[in-house]
Amino acid sequence: MGRMETDIFRCVECNEKAPELHRDYSNGILKITICESCQKPVDKYIEYDPVIILIDAILCKTQAFRHILFNTTLDIHWKLCVFCLLCEAYLRWSLLHGSEQSGDPADIIRYAKEWDFYSAFGLAALELSAFCGGALWFLWAATGRLRGGTPELRLLLRALLLSCYGKVLLIPAVIWEHDYSPLCLGLIKLFVLTSNSQAIRVILNCSRRVSLAAVCFGLLSETCVAQACRRLPWSVQDVLAFD
Ligand SMILES: [Zn+2]
Repeated sequence: MGRMETDIFRCVECNEKAPELHRDYSNGILKITICESCQKPVDKYIEYDPVIILIDAILCKTQAFRHILFNTTLDIHWKLCVFCLLCEAYLRWSLLHGSEQSGDPADIIRYAKEWDFYSAFGLAALELSAFCGGALWFLWAATGRLRGGTPELRLLLRALLLSCYGKVLLIPAVIWEHDYSPLCLGLIKLFVLTSNSQAIRVILNCSRRVSLAAVCFGLLSETCVAQACRRLPWSVQDVLAFD
């Protein structure tokens, strides 16, 4: 597991802290720990297939989110974040150049397209930062959460980035060009926001209303940044000019 013994796990059913998920007996028998608070297994998912865990996470089950966010050391959030930003940049870039003929021999146009890709990536990164910043600021300022210091903040940022995994669905949307519609992209966005909200709710153990408000605030901040960039006099506005 690679986890320190002093680290504290959480019961996936009732969110109570637990010192261990299973106990190793010397004769090779593993026994799953029972929660003292709810009398259920602390983490039933340690026996489950990763595919089942993924399906439960897609269904936004609280237990699956608790398992992934508290009881695993899954450390792919920054890589996943960059990958999702690449997907998003590619989608924006292909929306911009989709109607043009490919295989253009003129080098200067190729370089212009590359620059468009980098600026699409930069913009997507800026918007994601605005989203996370807005949501975290709301939780800090409006609800008084996150005063616990950096460990809680780091846990929440990891949860926010991991719960953006739905953005990889943009890849099929790009592959089946012309098939994607604003509805399809809207549904992906809705799915990502739902996961974000559930991640916040699990980490802070707060009400659904608070986590939804935080996500809405993040979305508002992201939209403001996107609109501001669109109005800037640089060529960045061309990247966002989908029409
Ligand atoms: Zn419990």
